[in-house]
Amino acid sequence: MRVLVAEKCGFCPGVRNAINLAKRTLEQEKSAYSLGHIIHNEEVVSQLSKDGLVPVDSIEDIESGTVLIRSHGATLDQLEDIRNKGLKIVDATCVLVKRVQKIARQLNEEGYKVVMIGDKDHPEVKAVVGSTDDVEVVGTPEDLDKIRLNKKLGVICQTTQSPDHFADMVAAISRRGFSEMKVINTLCRETMERQTAAVKLCRQVDVMFVLGGKHSANTRKLAELCKKHNPQTYHLQNWAELDKNCLFGKTVAGVTAGASTPDEVIEEFVRNLENHDAGSVG
Ligand code: SF4
Repeated sequence: MRVLVAEKCGFCPGVRNAINLAKRTLEQEKSAYSLGHIIHNEEVVSQLSKDGLVPVDSIEDIESGTVLIRSHGATLDQLEDIRNKGLKIVDATCVLVKRVQKIARQLNEEGYKVVMIGDKDHPEVKAVVGSTDDVEVVGTPEDLDKIRLNKKLGVICQTTQSPDHFADMVAAISRRGFSEMKVINTLCRETMERQTAAVKLCRQVDVMFVLGGKHSANTRKLAELCKKHNPQTYHLQNWAELDKNCLFGKTVAGVTAGASTPDEVIEEFVRNLENHDAGSVG
């Protein structure tokens, strides 16, 4: 089977940095904690936990040692709790996520009500909300009902949202008649490039595969976008999850992967797909 791989896919610099920092920390300290899973990829998380990285839900679960802050960042309260307990911090927060936190704080200081377009349950969004005083998270135009019209708004976005959703939400906000709007583009370029490359590729192939963790927001977004342009799109974690029947009669397959999908997972998938006889079932 012919296989085309998206021009840009797989690990982004923020995730690569977090994993490298985790490995270096484990080499030096033998064990460390991470607040939540370091990235949204089961294989990487399980390998790092074998090497000594212990994911915890709460700082209360840690008595002593080193805490790794993942690329999504942490709230000011969490950082303070870690320091108060005398724990050592290794900060792997992505620089682009730190930028969003800083912009949110600055907007608040300048008197803006911060409106963050994104998913309120995502750890990156929670960390931004927890890094300043006054942030309202909006996922849909209806969420804007919560905000008073006389407010001046500072609008930012979760780094992994699509530019189209960002633009639609900004348009919806501007139609509401808030007294002032200051919009700052906080989308991650790496994510945008992956989305553009994925959409371009999925239009050229019979079947499209998006590889990555089911909890990975950027992978889910890639799959959602590809599905819009090619209904024969499948979001899988790895080759083992593939139902080969979906390949029957197909000649060209496309492959892309989220920012937390390791190179080996992509390479194994592509290799197996290339060797697959699409005329066979199962
Ligand atoms: S997707 Fe972008 S913002 Fe998120 S960790 Fe990667 S580089 Fe940073």
